[in-house]
Amino acid sequence: MSLVQPQPDTDARALEVLSRVWGYSQFRDVQADIVRTVVGGGNALVLMPTGGGKSLCYQVPSLLRPGTGIVVSPLIALMKDQVDALRQFGVRAAFLNSSLPLQSVREVEAALLAGTLDLLYVAPERLLLPRTLELLRSAPVALFAIDEAHCVSQWGHDFRPEYGQLGVLPQRFPDIPRVALTATADDRTRADILRVLELGGAAQFISSFDRPNIQYRVANKEGPKTQLLDFVHAEHRGDAGIVYCLSRKSVEQTAQWLATQGVDAVPYHAGLSPRERNHAQERFLNDEGVVVVATVAFGMGIDKPNVRFVAHLDLPKSMEGYYQETGRAGRDGLPSTAWMVYGLADVVNVKRMLSQSDAPEDVKRVEAAKLDALLTYCEAATCRRQLLLAYFGEQRDEPCGNCDICLNPPKVRDATREAQMALSAAIRTGNCFGAAHLTDVLLGQPTEKVVGMGHHLLPTFGVGKGHDEKMWRGLIRQLVSLGHLAAGEHYGLSATGKSRPLLKGETTLMLREDSLVPREKVRKRDRDASRSSRAPVDAQDAPLFEALRAWRLQLARQKSVPPYAIFSDATLKAICELRPGSASTLGTVSGVGQRKLADYGEAVLDIVREHSGSGGREAARPALPAERGARANSAVLGMLRGQEQERTPSQPVRGPAPSLFSAPAQAGETAPAPAHTEVADALRELRRELTRETGHSAFVIFPNATLEALADACPRTLADLEGLSGMGPKRIENYGERIVDVVLTALDE
Ligand code: ADP
Ligand code: ZN
Repeated sequence: MSLVQPQPDTDARALEVLSRVWGYSQFRDVQADIVRTVVGGGNALVLMPTGGGKSLCYQVPSLLRPGTGIVVSPLIALMKDQVDALRQFGVRAAFLNSSLPLQSVREVEAALLAGTLDLLYVAPERLLLPRTLELLRSAPVALFAIDEAHCVSQWGHDFRPEYGQLGVLPQRFPDIPRVALTATADDRTRADILRVLELGGAAQFISSFDRPNIQYRVANKEGPKTQLLDFVHAEHRGDAGIVYCLSRKSVEQTAQWLATQGVDAVPYHAGLSPRERNHAQERFLNDEGVVVVATVAFGMGIDKPNVRFVAHLDLPKSMEGYYQETGRAGRDGLPSTAWMVYGLADVVNVKRMLSQSDAPEDVKRVEAAKLDALLTYCEAATCRRQLLLAYFGEQRDEPCGNCDICLNPPKVRDATREAQMALSAAIRTGNCFGAAHLTDVLLGQPTEKVVGMGHHLLPTFGVGKGHDEKMWRGLIRQLVSLGHLAAGEHYGLSATGKSRPLLKGETTLMLREDSLVPREKVRKRDRDASRSSRAPVDAQDAPLFEALRAWRLQLARQKSVPPYAIFSDATLKAICELRPGSASTLGTVSGVGQRKLADYGEAVLDIVREHSGSGGREAARPALPAERGARANSAVLGMLRGQEQERTPSQPVRGPAPSLFSAPAQAGETAPAPAHTEVADALRELRRELTRETGHSAFVIFPNATLEALADACPRTLADLEGLSGMGPKRIENYGERIVDVVLTALDE
């Protein structure tokens, strides 16, 4: 899909910088095209989801073009962290904002003029000062990157007036490339960005909004605090996470409750003093495993990559909000969870708030439509990711395999009759009673209120005895979510026009049977299905992973930088899997660039050695000449490393152990089956795709030996994959379906 002509020279230089400085072996998705465009002097608009990898799109070009890359960012509180992280890579970065003492400002300005900065982060208000604009006129500027570019738009939720004035950039510096980046894809916002920054003729890069490593889950609210605690304990003990609540009060209560239950939780909301908020943010960024309980005020620009879960205890405002908030999980590409509980009261509440708001009618209509989309998502009986992506205009043909619906499909059944009963209960009681009362009427409970209102005399009284209270509450919630019942004053529910065909029996209603399944069963299944994908590393790598994390935390404290600025979790994980025994092998790990190798290589190798007995997994075989050639031969190394992986205990090998340099034969066969070249080619293509999607190196997806074993065996079902060399449970879970798919397609079955 690349519309940008290949530029062999630029591409090679970009890859060289990517690998030398960041230690990454390839660009993700559209990154390469963006870099090519900007290095070539073109303007660009970049729409990418949170965690998609926007930063490299301007950082790499800033290193490749003469002069300093100027990054406009609204996030003053985070600039220091961003700059610190870049310096860890050996990038010459600095920032200018109101928090900086005058002396430091002068130093940064001098460096800018001298051309000794690669990147300079500036707050928009600072950029707009005549002094700064004048300075930029005299300094060599490589490009302007406008981060969080949606802040130019009044439509968005983050409008910043100074962003509206960034039109000075095209006016004063028409020849310097501008890259606008955002994770907000809304059409109107996009149009505003193009207008304000004069990007009419710019190339637009819109990447997939899918975040395959995030597992989306939504459950009924039934004691939210306990549900949350169960979830954290069962799946995310010791992990960093964000919990979103609607009100300040529930933020504080939830944080306190979690803390008393042994979770390292801190509150964050706009009512706290700046000092308290800073403290919460600092702890979140600089310590491991802190859970921030927050209102939506928290999170913009937080680019902590190892947030392992985002939990919603209340309904978000819209799909956009939900996607942005959940997107803060798993920027590092490792498995993460987006978890939400919601109940009838939430639905009624938000609907009521909306109908009673003073906003103009057209705004209300837009908001109502957005809320409906969100509720449809919550009540979904089909793959959640498909719905999410469809909302953002992206068609996905297959269910994802990594959401609660895919992992644990709910039964759907015809609930037309029950829906009619509930609707008629609402109508016959005068369209003004809440769910509790309607449920009493349906169940035939002669409560004081029911008898007092004479509702025990209605024909609907007791018609719903065949089901329990829980089923009725669930059904009513779904009717409200789907717009058959509307929430009015005092939580009263009334049948809407939409319900008429249903009442007349002209349409049927298929509903999830969730509320009929005992809760414990659902929860347990949920947990089992997801547990295996939650652990960041395999069990046998856990001690090494923890040791590396402890070392990282200590070092981060010494240097006053966030731990992830030393190495990301993804890099530590890759080190655990590879267990390098030499600096040159360590240097091939994704995320280990030259500078970090020089600074931390020895320490890491020592720790790996301590945890691997005889000195790293790779020491188990003789040193290879290829390794002396170090990085130039990383392809060869990757292949060999892939075969090393075969020998890790977590991946059971049936039949004779594979020899180091030849593909293992399939279980039970004396001679290998003829290799299916089409299948092998298709698998290779799949691996490339997965590499792009996940950012993992090819050998981490699956090594060559496994690829050959797969091509030999041509597995047609998930069960066929079991026991194949290199196909441990985790690979099967992560990639099994895709592999089988590819095999079947290649064999034309
Ligand atoms: P965004 O700004 O779009 O939210 P970031 O730029 O913070 O995303 O990138 C998210 C994470 O992905 C970071 O940890 C980054 O280092 C990593 N990343 C980005 N591009 C690549 C790549 N080509 N290969 C490996 N990791 C990458
Ligand atoms: Zn799914």
